[in-house]
Amino acid sequence: MARTVLVTGGNRGIGLAIAQAFAKQGDRVAVTHRSGEAPAGLFGVKCDVTDAESVDAAFAAVEAELGPVEVLVANAGITDDTLLLRMSEEQFTRVLDTNLTGAFRVAKRASTKMLRAKWGRMIFISSVVGLAGGAGQVNYAASKAGLVGVARSITRELGSRNITANVVAPGFIDTDMTAVLPEERKAEIRKSIPAGRMASPDEVAAAVTWLASDAAAYVSGAVIPVDGGLGMGH
Ligand code: NDP
Repeated sequence: MARTVLVTGGNRGIGLAIAQAFAKQGDRVAVTHRSGEAPAGLFGVKCDVTDAESVDAAFAAVEAELGPVEVLVANAGITDDTLLLRMSEEQFTRVLDTNLTGAFRVAKRASTKMLRAKWGRMIFISSVVGLAGGAGQVNYAASKAGLVGVARSITRELGSRNITANVVAPGFIDTDMTAVLPEERKAEIRKSIPAGRMASPDEVAAAVTWLASDAAAYVSGAVIPVDGGLGMGH
């Protein structure tokens, strides 16, 4: 059955791969983009997840075009890495505001219609760093760990209404976000990954479409790693 799907930050990277995977299986897919144009073939709405009014307007536009959002993928995220000693409060709060509060804003907005429909899927894109931590990533790791609490609390609140909330925790994925890493750092990272390589965004998308499927109806509050074994034990 075709569903209405909204992917935040779906104009590039992991978000775009997720949006394309849903479109390929016949769902009605909308993506948010902050800048530039929407990707070809997908319904795009401008949205900055740090602004509740912008989130509300984006949802209204999607509802008018494709119907209420049934599957929400909170994917928009940023990094602003530096060591704790050097991290400014602004650097900390800006990353939290996008990655964690941004996910809260879209989940809250989506929940009204999901409750009315008595069906919904929320998928939060976290990171292996959320549970393992990362040097220079106090802000990012805190934001990604917070998503676990968000998904598990939503599961407790809305689980009886056919609404699931899960977390996907990718390891190192080949996108603009990791392209900025120096080559030596990437070689080091590859060495630490049992699979011995980074992943493609499509490998994250496969877990996300499964979590949204009827087959995963009994999976909620889970953290699904897609990390080549990097975060084992977390
Ligand atoms: P990219 O940097 O390639 O893309 C980030 C996306 O988020 C862009 O679409 C960007 O929009 C959007 N975005 C950022 N800030 C906002 C905002 N305030 N409002 C709306 N949209 C925003 O990242 P990836 O594709 O690599 O990452 C996607 C998600 O996966 C992120 O949450 C990231 O933390 C997570 N992740 C990535 C990993 C990796 O190795 N790449 C590993 C683990 C997790 P715009 O184009 O307008 O800037």
